[in-house]
Amino acid sequence: MLKIKNYINGQLVEPQAGRYLDNVEPATGKVYSHVPDSEPSDVERAVVAAEQAFPSWSAMPAEERSQRMLKIADLIEARIDEFAKAETVDNGKPLALARAVDIPRAVKNFRFFATSILHSHSESHVTGGTAINYTLRQPRGIAGLISPWNLPLYLFSWKVAPAMATGNTTVAKPSEVTPMTAYMLSEICCEAGLPPGVLNVVHGLGAKVGAAITAHPKIMTISFTGGTVTGREVAKAAAPLFKKVSLEMGGKNPNIVFADADMDQALDNSVRAAFANQGQICLCGSRIFVEKSAFDSFVERFIRATKALKVGDPLEKGSDQGSLVSKAQFEKVGNYVNLAAEEGGEILCGGAPPPPVNDRCKDGYFFQPTAIVGLGTDCRVNQEEIFGPVATITPFETEDEVIDYANGTTYGLSASVWTQNLNRAHRFGERIDSGTIWVNCWLLRDLRVPFGGMKQSGLGREGGDEALRFFTEPKNVCIQT
Ligand code: NAD
Repeated sequence: MLKIKNYINGQLVEPQAGRYLDNVEPATGKVYSHVPDSEPSDVERAVVAAEQAFPSWSAMPAEERSQRMLKIADLIEARIDEFAKAETVDNGKPLALARAVDIPRAVKNFRFFATSILHSHSESHVTGGTAINYTLRQPRGIAGLISPWNLPLYLFSWKVAPAMATGNTTVAKPSEVTPMTAYMLSEICCEAGLPPGVLNVVHGLGAKVGAAITAHPKIMTISFTGGTVTGREVAKAAAPLFKKVSLEMGGKNPNIVFADADMDQALDNSVRAAFANQGQICLCGSRIFVEKSAFDSFVERFIRATKALKVGDPLEKGSDQGSLVSKAQFEKVGNYVNLAAEEGGEILCGGAPPPPVNDRCKDGYFFQPTAIVGLGTDCRVNQEEIFGPVATITPFETEDEVIDYANGTTYGLSASVWTQNLNRAHRFGERIDSGTIWVNCWLLRDLRVPFGGMKQSGLGREGGDEALRFFTEPKNVCIQT
């Protein structure tokens, strides 16, 4: 059985203590590989390698760093089918999704940041005829990068690429639940001739490896994506050392449908926003609000479309929904559906695992896409992030009322508004407290825009110039003229 290795100082290496964790294929419930159960001492080795690599990598002309990163992108692209299959086996997501979204986006992340460093610029300020100031943006040193399991390579590369592009060296930890494509990326880095120590990948548990990264005094930049509870731990560890921290955390995103919306478009996309990747995207629109006059027909059509989604073997063509990522996630979703019933919700479709999708997957962690009505907006199911294929649908009558609902959680990651009224679209853009507000769309991403969350969804922003700024230290040089 395959043993995944750490990638430290340009070498694929075993964890020092020789311990491994089981890596499960969630669609079958069976262990199919082993992932290093690394220790803080493995992180220490990675830090030493990153420290040694920093002077030459940070001094390398941007064009050369760029070429090396473009080579990595080309090599992933050349193995795109292999990467997509690995992501599906590791995560449970439909192969078509991994092939169309996850892996192409990882390629794009490398290309985007490899080329953005060729076009970036910094500011200069002339001070009333007496001085000229310019801003140097220099790499900060070793960046610690921690990512989750829902979009494994997509989000891992979203951190690795800007950190490396700006001249930092890195110690990165993918989720222990989905380590495979980060391991394959390590192999690609060896093949691409990336200088040893620029990217170090240490696999293992968050409480050991993640915590060792966030606590390490030589890792003064931390970029984290994951749950809000974990984000709080990361912030606590980083605070005493005044580390620069970016936190991308959970969401409970509203999807607001007005009666004047293009209803076909609103419907198709509300279903997609609720259930894409089995509802395991931080941006999923899990709280659907529909204007009262359109509520009954929307619910009827939403249920019909949801029932038509095929839950199947993620490796088979035609499966719209694969399995949840793990047993823990499967149990969590089931518990929230039970809670919804206790809280007075009416489960209109789904609400349970499907019958076995085939023999291969009979022990997999599948759950039917589930729609619930009749819940109050303050109940736990409407307040807490479930991160699974569960959506609630609630009617509203006025703009003020739905703005209160939209803003009425501790989260503030994203929102969608469906309306043909342009003025209303602008009003909602201003009044919703979230990092992204999509109007008549969902998950339409331009890599140049600021990406992140407000309130307990995030601290700081990723993407475009925001990422280049996060991974660099601005220094003012003031020259008297
Ligand atoms: P998680 O918080 O359990 O784990 C995320 C990462 O943190 C993993 O690599 C984990 O090993 C590590 N970790 C765990 N404990 C740690 C600790 N004490 N110190 C340092 N690192 C630690 O999250 P998850 O279950 O992997 O992912 C799901 C969550 O991620 C959801 O809440 C989802 O909304 C969020 N998410 C947010 C975004 C975003 O951009 N805002 C994107 C994707 C996922």
